[in-house]
Amino acid sequence: MKKILLTAAVVFLGMTTAQAQFGKLGGKKVEALTTAVSAFTVSDAEIQQSAREAVKWMDENNPVCELNSKQKDMREYAERLERIFGPYKNYDGLDLNYKVYYVTDINAFACADGSVRVFSSLMDIMTDDELLGIIGHEIGHVKLEHTKNAYKQILLTEAAAKYVGSTKGTVADLMNSDLGGMSQKLMGASFSRKQETDSDDYSYKFLVSNGKNPQALADGFQKFVDMEKEYGADKSLGAKMSSSHPDSEKRVKRVEDKIKKEAKK
Ligand SMILES: [Zn+2]
Repeated sequence: MKKILLTAAVVFLGMTTAQAQFGKLGGKKVEALTTAVSAFTVSDAEIQQSAREAVKWMDENNPVCELNSKQKDMREYAERLERIFGPYKNYDGLDLNYKVYYVTDINAFACADGSVRVFSSLMDIMTDDELLGIIGHEIGHVKLEHTKNAYKQILLTEAAAKYVGSTKGTVADLMNSDLGGMSQKLMGASFSRKQETDSDDYSYKFLVSNGKNPQALADGFQKFVDMEKEYGADKSLGAKMSSSHPDSEKRVKRVEDKIKKEAKK
């Protein structure tokens, strides 16, 4: 039976408004944060290392579909993603890797180290090209450094809370002290509206330059809209859907407007 993703209630694909991690802190903590930021630094290499550790933790704590899984449907999910994603593993100068999580959540996410994780329940409702549209969106978050910048902010914020008024502690210490908690925080990184829109645009170009119809991106988002309408009242299911926010409809329209505009050129 499919499981619920360990980090439920996290909206990866969602177009949430900017939830600045700093915004959640009160006045006093912000001060401490400023002090700590000057003492605590996060390098690109440390971000990459943290990302690798976090995604490894996620892989170990969620059921992963493998090409040699014992269960037939799990093998089929892995084979299908391999077929869809395989051609793009070195796309746009990136070193990407991908896996399917056998979970009930309808979602996908990307990690700063180029790891993309797609959930089997999302694969159930999407065609290959629609799925590629969502994968393109996730690749956009990596290429445009949204994940990298979000991780940096999370690491700084966590360090500020943990190492108040002290210069002790490194990113590695921070990760090691609570690997599960830190992994879930990093994987749950949220992006600004602008970043989500930029990733949608990235995916649009990704589809077009690979000979796919960008309508697939709009169709994929439309499925979120439909599900939201159908199950909107059912909170338990609604919570599992990345569409449980008001903007799916706008995203569909944005993509379709772009298609119309391109057609006129
Ligand atoms: Zn996104």
